[in-house]
Amino acid sequence: MLRHEATERPYSSPLNDEHRRGTFVCKGCDLPLFRSGWKFDSRTGWPSFYTVIAANIGRKRDLAIGVPRTEYHCARCLGHQGHVFNDGPRPTGLRYCNNGAALKFVAA
Ligand SMILES: [Zn+2]
Repeated sequence: MLRHEATERPYSSPLNDEHRRGTFVCKGCDLPLFRSGWKFDSRTGWPSFYTVIAANIGRKRDLAIGVPRTEYHCARCLGHQGHVFNDGPRPTGLRYCNNGAALKFVAA
């Protein structure tokens, strides 16, 4: 999953239902990416966040499905995490749609 930019099946990740306080870290290298307070229910079936620890990700343009999207990945191990869209909630209006299999939850 981390090495291929494939997307897991929706609603397949137990992290969809993770509502404890803590931090979502890169499964590949444990770099913190999201705080639990940034998670919201996007009803897409993938863990979704309205912001990210920006210094810990890299972004690139992705034309894999013929429509330009912004892919983001772990800045340290370069593992693919997900895509960011402009239809998220306030305050950012962004939706970081993440592969649950690329994340690990660390309870606070
Ligand atoms: Zn990583």
